[in-house]
Amino acid sequence: MILRALTAMAAPAGPRSRLSVFYFHRTLAEPDPLLPDEPDARMFDRILGWIGAQFRVLDPLEACERLYDGTLPSRPAVITFDDGYRDNYTVALPILQRHRMGAAFFIATGFLDGGMMFNDRVIEAVRKAAGDSLAIPGTADRLPIRDLAERRIAIERILRAVKHLPPDERHSRVLELEHGLGQTGRSEMMMEPGLVARLHGAGMRVGGHTRTHPILLALNDEESLAEIVNGADDIAAIVGTSPDLFAYPNGRLGSDFDDRHARMVASAGFRFAFTTHAGVADRSSAAMMLPRFTPWDRSPLRFRVRALRNVARAA
Ligand SMILES: [Zn+2]
Repeated sequence: MILRALTAMAAPAGPRSRLSVFYFHRTLAEPDPLLPDEPDARMFDRILGWIGAQFRVLDPLEACERLYDGTLPSRPAVITFDDGYRDNYTVALPILQRHRMGAAFFIATGFLDGGMMFNDRVIEAVRKAAGDSLAIPGTADRLPIRDLAERRIAIERILRAVKHLPPDERHSRVLELEHGLGQTGRSEMMMEPGLVARLHGAGMRVGGHTRTHPILLALNDEESLAEIVNGADDIAAIVGTSPDLFAYPNGRLGSDFDDRHARMVASAGFRFAFTTHAGVADRSSAAMMLPRFTPWDRSPLRFRVRALRNVARAA
């Protein structure tokens, strides 16, 4: 009760309001020891309970419009998901519906055909690997993978080794890893277009997240614009209407994208775009750089206090 009152003071109704935007990636059906940071269904349900007890969760597009109109209610919030994981449909959607909450789903459309993003390909390759050790791609070093703890370390080591390589080189290292382990890099981890259309049909917002989830700053302008526009066109083809909302892949200004990309996103027809910088949006926020923040705490009090601090911190 006190937390809700303090949140309402920090984010009052009207032009002085402050919009909290939570973001998630996966919502696991069951806990996964190789993905310790991703909430499972029970935890996600509890998190939505905490958010609902403290905030008013609004439709994401409507919330953005009302932010700039100065007509938000007190303690407003929005829930978003990045990338397009299938569990967003199978696990998160029914839980959202039970809580009567809308959300936005930012979809990297190039993976809707059985593909996976490179980090997931590494995780799944190591998860399924037979044997006691595997080679770090691009090196002669081997890593032990005798138990889950060692597999987690191996995943971290490999991700660190390939993460910052140019996309082509990174792709060939991932292929090398998969070939060495006799794996294909295909899965049903991401949604297929039909499920994205059903999210839209269920009243959820489907937003852009580029086609192949590149670090935009690693591309030239022509390639960046193509990624942004192709992703938007793919979504329009799937749901029948052009997306209004966008989230930058990785989402950090200066390291993942810059002002040029914000202008490209606007020119592609998006009206509002989200970063992964912590903070809260107010009327002075740039519409193409709205911050997002999700507390990582898994206890209700800590989660809610951290969410309050995020709202209350000086603009
Ligand atoms: Zn993403």
